[in-house]
This record gives sequence, structure tokens and C-alpha cells, in this order.
Amino acid sequence: MQKDNLLKKLCCCGGGMTIHMHTLIYSAKVKITGVPVYTCGECSRYEPLPSIKRDLGMLIKELGGSSNQRQVSFAERNEWANVLKETLASFNIVDLSHLDEAINAAIQGRIDLLLDIYQFASARFDREWMEETANRLSQLTQSSPERAK
Ligand SMILES: [Zn+2]
Repeated sequence: MQKDNLLKKLCCCGGGMTIHMHTLIYSAKVKITGVPVYTCGECSRYEPLPSIKRDLGMLIKELGGSSNQRQVSFAERNEWANVLKETLASFNIVDLSHLDEAINAAIQGRIDLLLDIYQFASARFDREWMEETANRLSQLTQSSPERAK
């Protein structure tokens, strides 16, 4: 009955997990800001959202190569993180039911926007732009293929 609720999930300890924007420290030297994670209120365990794991893995691989960067914004590279960051920032009261609606609406709005951009890029035969937009779209739609149709 709650399968569409992306704000809450159950931790393996039985506690409730809620969504937060988190800053990860990679290799004790690089800060990765704007990473959406589930945090458990009982045992403080956290885990990244399933929909961002692929991109986060790619970023970490990149950082593992050669990088002098001290701080990286994950929200600038991932659409989910970006939309969640914006939505959470505009929300000052923790009203989970409405926040869930707000996030779903924000995600849908971003998908619509990207589809518009894609059509625009396609009308201009701009392949690079189309590819980039398709990639951003797939970040949002890969975790919920049924909803994307
Ligand atoms: Zn827990």
C-alpha cells in the first residue's frame, strides 16, 4: 500500500528510515555533497537511494583516478539528487505526506522539462545535446520504468 512512498523505508534493525541530503567523505579527503540517502532513526545506519547508486558509483570511480578536487557536488551531476535537494530546501516543515507529494510532482516536472528540452535539441539535430538530455532523463526514469510511460 505504501510502495510509492520514496521518503520512508524500513531499516534492517526494524527502525524507520527517512530521506536526507548527506555529505559523504571519500578517501578521507574529498567531500561529496548533496547525496540523497536513507537514514535510520534507531541505529543511524544510512544507505544511498537505489536510483542514485549507479551515478554515485561512477563518481567514486572517477575520484579514484586522479583528482585534486576537495569538494564535489553530486546534486550537480544527478537529476534525482538535484530535484530532491531543491524540494527539500524549499520545505521547512517536516510534513512527510506533503513532502512526498512535492517530490513526486518535482520529479514529474523535471521529466516534462527534460522531454521538452529533448524535443528542442532533436529539432535542432543537436546530437550531443540530445544524448546529454537522454542521459539525464534516464537517471530519473530507470528506477520507476512503469511510471515513465
Ligand atoms: Zn536501523
